[in-house]
Amino acid sequence: MSPRPAGRLTLETPVTYLTGVGPRRAELLKRLNIFTARDLLLHIPHRYEDASTVRPIASLRVGDDATVIGTVISTGILPTRKGLRVFQAVVQDASGLIEVSWPGQPWLDRQIAKEDVLLLSGPVRFFHGRQLAPREFVNLGTGADGTSGGRVLAVYGATEGLSVKVLRGLVEAHLDVLLPQVEEYLPPAVLAAAGVPALRDALAAVHRPASVAAALEGRARLAFEELLFVHLLQRRAHLLARETRAGIRFENRRELTSRFREVLPFALTGAQVRSIREIVADMTAPTRMHRLLQGDVGAGKTVVALFAALLAMENGAQVAFMAPTELLAEQHAQTIDRLLAPLGIVPVLITGSRSAAERRLAATRLASGEPCLAVGTHALVQEGTRFARLGLAIIDEQHRFGVDQRKALAERGLGPERPDVLLMSATPIPRSLALTMYGDLDVSVLDERPPGRQPVTTALRPESARARVFAFLRRQVEAGRQAYVVYPLVEDSEKVALKAATTAFDELSAGPLAGLRLALLHGRLSAEEKDAVMRRFRDGAVDVLVATTVIEVGIDVPNATVMLIEHPERFGLSQLHQLRGRVGRGAAESFCILLGDVGPEAAERLQVIVDSDDGFVVARADLALRGMGDLFGERQSGVPTFRVADPLRDEALSEVARGVAERILAEDPLLALPAHRRMGEMLRRGYGRALELFRVG
Ligand code: ADP
Ligand code: MG
Repeated sequence: MSPRPAGRLTLETPVTYLTGVGPRRAELLKRLNIFTARDLLLHIPHRYEDASTVRPIASLRVGDDATVIGTVISTGILPTRKGLRVFQAVVQDASGLIEVSWPGQPWLDRQIAKEDVLLLSGPVRFFHGRQLAPREFVNLGTGADGTSGGRVLAVYGATEGLSVKVLRGLVEAHLDVLLPQVEEYLPPAVLAAAGVPALRDALAAVHRPASVAAALEGRARLAFEELLFVHLLQRRAHLLARETRAGIRFENRRELTSRFREVLPFALTGAQVRSIREIVADMTAPTRMHRLLQGDVGAGKTVVALFAALLAMENGAQVAFMAPTELLAEQHAQTIDRLLAPLGIVPVLITGSRSAAERRLAATRLASGEPCLAVGTHALVQEGTRFARLGLAIIDEQHRFGVDQRKALAERGLGPERPDVLLMSATPIPRSLALTMYGDLDVSVLDERPPGRQPVTTALRPESARARVFAFLRRQVEAGRQAYVVYPLVEDSEKVALKAATTAFDELSAGPLAGLRLALLHGRLSAEEKDAVMRRFRDGAVDVLVATTVIEVGIDVPNATVMLIEHPERFGLSQLHQLRGRVGRGAAESFCILLGDVGPEAAERLQVIVDSDDGFVVARADLALRGMGDLFGERQSGVPTFRVADPLRDEALSEVARGVAERILAEDPLLALPAHRRMGEMLRRGYGRALELFRVG
């Protein structure tokens, strides 16, 4: 064990020097990102149990869902007939006792002992009497009274080998020495603006709360700091970019754009008009545009992007429109060709599979510097594609591209003038959230659907309805429509016997869909094979496309009216919404059917999809359920992560933080004023990026 350092315990003391922490525990603490005493202090409970919500055991009835605290009076492991081993404990409080059962978790025998006090929540069911089936539990240790000093119980995030009990003990043992050393670094005016307590009080409140409300106020101080720091960083990055990134100053000549508006076969939605106005303002400014256009599937992003493209072209510039797959690029080129035909503009398609002659022709046009609109895949940023006058880069489904590819296109301009950049995304999130996540971008939101769009009828159907569901699908095909059947996996996994698309394909062709023209699409096919299958479906040569989620994005087949999804519980809500967006694109009524027996929790989650056709509602629910990471995916590096704050739940706080960050930077862009100096130091300490952004001199 390491020797104790001379002198007292400080916030910077490594955890190995803390009483109760040896090398093994120090390793485990590292897993929780706890390296120093300060980190331990900042490892705040993720949840609280208020003693007032804890029920007397005697009052529990079968069917209740309840939280209890009780002392273990006996434990045991029981084998079941199916060979499953069940860990059981009997717990008791002042009012009575109840049996608690953990099927399949015999190893709990090593973690729960007689005399331990447990906090348990879960449903009460009938099994030889009342029995609690804990959804979760916390071992509070021996002799705990379950109230952590006050009436409120703090529950810490733990890790295997490091229980809540141990963490709580560590915090408790050092809190009185550490708290007095904590000093506030946010200016009093900032705390006042957010209405949050100072740091020391906040930490005392989160670790030893007098009430849940007090704990949450303390938590708000910590969440606010995270949000403020992220907004300071992003706002600063944004301002710097504006200062340093000279862009092209386009002139709003109202030539091509005005003509386009005249020939459009429909009126623009209010949201489209607003977004176009925001884009035009960016493009006609001397600074570079760096804007994200968000909108649900079918919100009409392409048309908006075309106004931007035409503005660039009427200024003599070239435009690159990049899509993630060949098929999407082709589809865009066709749509654009149709929409722009009245203006006499033909897009240039640039993909890997174009013939050498076609590519040469395209290359000549791009090199000539004549205004044109190049639509393509990442081939647009590869060697051999050279724009003489690239003025605008449009990136569709931007999250499907890596940071490098996006950058490569944005850097394609010649000379000091970089092209304007318009990113598009079909995972709509609330504007304030978008600003937290992508603070260095400007954001336009298409939150309005074009009129006359048929809503897709969505339903969740049990296994028992399978035959009827397929009969319905058959009737749709017989009426001339097409359908998708989507599965979550490619092959049977040994562990989970899921019906995979491959096996299902055989079953469907032999059974319920016999005689229809089926095709199979899955992730193991090469890009060309996938494109070929999709093309046949698009051209009507295939009635039913049996697929894994590879069809998720973008493809537009207006004649498809049924989206049947198997094992819907295995998909995220946003993913389901994207899938549903593949139908309802034509004039005929469309259906999205979620088929399978799902558990009650999954059913509740899926109800969001059944009830709402609004991508914003779905994305919000998805975020709330799964957290940020999943929704934004791994590619979204650069998206900030938070320890305490939840940009969705803390949306109001985030708005305040953004306002405060803007005011601070307007007054003191480098955080050099005495009032801001300590805050600036903490910011630089916490975020490597800050060193660059707030460099003095
Ligand atoms: P997104 O890319 O946002 O999913 P698209 O740009 O592909 O949506 O538009 C979906 C469909 O709606 C296209 O067929 C498009 O021509 C049509 N559309 C776009 N804007 C309008 C509008 N204002 N009114 C009617 N139809 C529109
Ligand atoms: Mg689109």
